[in-house]
Amino acid sequence: MNHLLTLDSDITYLPGVGPSRAKLYGEEMGLHTVQDLILYFPFKHIDRTRLYYIHELSVDMPFVQLKGKILSFEEEGVGRKKRLVAHFTDGHGILDLVWFNGLQYVSKNYKVNKEYIVFGKPGYFNGRFQIMHPDIDDASSLTLSTMGMQPYYPIPEKARKRGATSRFIEGMTNTAFSMLKYPIPETLPQTIVERNMLMSRDEAIRCMHYPQSADALSRATYRLKLEELFYIQLNILKFTQDRQREVHGIPCPRVGDIFLDFFHNHLPFTLTGAQQRVIKEIQADMKSGRQMNRLLQGDVGSGKTLVALMVMLLAIDNGLQTCIMAPTEILAEQHLETFRNFLGDMPVRVELLTGMVKGKRRKSVLEGLENGDVNILVGTHAVIEENVIFKNLGFVVIDEQHRFGVAQRARLWRKNVVPPHVLVMTATPIPRTLAMTLYGDLDVSVINELPPGRKPILTVHHYDTHVKTLYSGIRQQIDLGRQVYVVYPLITESEKMDLKNLEDGYEQLCEAFPDLKISRVHGKMKAADKEAEMQRFASGETQILVATTVIEVGVNVPNASVMVIENAERFGLAQLHQLRGRVGRGADQSFCILVTGYELSSETRKRIQIMTETNDGFEIAEADLKFRGPGDIEGTQQSGTAFDLRVANLARDGQIVQQARDLARGVIDNDPNHDKPEYALCWQRLSQLGKDQQDWSSIS
Ligand code: ADP
Ligand code: MG
Repeated sequence: MNHLLTLDSDITYLPGVGPSRAKLYGEEMGLHTVQDLILYFPFKHIDRTRLYYIHELSVDMPFVQLKGKILSFEEEGVGRKKRLVAHFTDGHGILDLVWFNGLQYVSKNYKVNKEYIVFGKPGYFNGRFQIMHPDIDDASSLTLSTMGMQPYYPIPEKARKRGATSRFIEGMTNTAFSMLKYPIPETLPQTIVERNMLMSRDEAIRCMHYPQSADALSRATYRLKLEELFYIQLNILKFTQDRQREVHGIPCPRVGDIFLDFFHNHLPFTLTGAQQRVIKEIQADMKSGRQMNRLLQGDVGSGKTLVALMVMLLAIDNGLQTCIMAPTEILAEQHLETFRNFLGDMPVRVELLTGMVKGKRRKSVLEGLENGDVNILVGTHAVIEENVIFKNLGFVVIDEQHRFGVAQRARLWRKNVVPPHVLVMTATPIPRTLAMTLYGDLDVSVINELPPGRKPILTVHHYDTHVKTLYSGIRQQIDLGRQVYVVYPLITESEKMDLKNLEDGYEQLCEAFPDLKISRVHGKMKAADKEAEMQRFASGETQILVATTVIEVGVNVPNASVMVIENAERFGLAQLHQLRGRVGRGADQSFCILVTGYELSSETRKRIQIMTETNDGFEIAEADLKFRGPGDIEGTQQSGTAFDLRVANLARDGQIVQQARDLARGVIDNDPNHDKPEYALCWQRLSQLGKDQQDWSSIS
């Protein structure tokens, strides 16, 4: 074979790939060049080293291969129902090969009495085994030893309809590798490859398609995952390094009257040790002269809001304006109320800015921001709109947000001449390795302690057939003066049914508790109606709130002590934990009741069990990672292309993330000015990746 191809060669240079095929694979699957092709990895391999006999078959076998001859062809049916059947024997039995389309191709290409290797999933029909649409190879062209592990490539539905097959890609990759002019260039510095005993990039990529063994495949996968994660981490660390060099922070050295007045005269309770420590960490950051970019992690109810408020007061003491952004209007309004309650008659002006603040009131807020009268602005995304102008914005808090990437944070920076300090608060515990990527450029503070006197929420599992005991439990709590949430899942696929479940549940509750007032809230309601219903519950006017997951984030009704989650089997762990966090906010014993049907998968059982056993958000997050793919982990979806990883999986490859981080850290430390020849390859590659993928630098 001629060695003529380079990575940039068009796939039409491959024998057998004409313009129409090239168009198909290019348009549908983005395979234009040899490089595209060899980086298109199979999703599985099938061991084709074993041959079966027809008399060994059973219908529960996944894929089998057989060696034998076609005895005869037969066409059955007419018109669109027409099918082609080949009677096939391996000398130990007879089996039918069946085609519903491509009949012409089959009868033209496959011959009676010639030896073939046939591959497919066996089925049973009309008293005989059959394989529909088998893969067929000339037995003389394949030997078992060369077949080895056969790659299976993902083919999108549309491409499949236009005739794309895994088999054809296999042919292309096979020839591409044999025709490549030179080894695929290395992308990691030699020292890293050697010290970590990694496969070369060339070997790893070839091995991903055609592994000699399962072990080799896993080494290849490891090498490519590490590389992928390494460049993500290097990018994050370099970004942080650049920022620390180029961006100066507003110094906040003073602890002044406002902070001290609040601390001594208005703070209704003692801070927890964790709150004190975190406030000190933040304060140290803000007076360092660097711009603070910090993540505050703390479980639901751990008192993050108060920490935010106190740091805001510090900033105000230093002559700065502050703002806090919540993900929803309801939460923003709750923060406003909380702050005003905490501050009482202190001379601090707190204002609200959301889409609902309009007219005169909006004008007055905007003016107050521009002339510096407003000290604390509470709002939604509305606060980063262009027309919102601050006189001197020095500190920004982003509450309960996962969608606030570097790019959006950068927009905040432009709200002031010197970028404000930024604190991102999150209650969804994020496993450390995932945080390293999502929030890799942030320093992290953790509140790992709940305020004293909280009784841990008691979580129990309840089958949906025992409605009576459930209702009597609810009744007991309500008689004690408490309130109750009842939550239903609402997932788009079956939205109508879900809504019906919620309505039915509502009716049932109304029947069971005719003397009570019951609120109902779901995502299909108008924002204002939703708001009004929530408010009725929050003020204690209604005793039960029937809702979908709209209440998941942040709502604070300390008097609510029971959280009933219907169809709990349909929620993920993180979501269950978030929902549970809506209760246990007062001093009373609170309960979370997970209602499910009888038939549960073993995985669901484990999930429910974890919930009943622990209240620790971090433990739950780790368990969650093990159960679910990374796409499901909150925060990763919205990040789009930044997490469009080919081989690595942020959820499962936590350990490799850590290794990648350490390697990247080592490079930054050894070559802080990016000028050592040893690491030149890294910096080149990084800037190349940045160019290839526009969004790549907006990670986290
Ligand atoms: P988070 O935002 O972390 O979920 P919050 O800030 O809403 O938690 O706090 C939950 C509740 O605990 C609030 O009612 C708050 O006033 C109260 N709280 C906060 N810190 C303390 C403390 N140190 N001692 C007692 N209660 C506290
Ligand atoms: Mg909160």
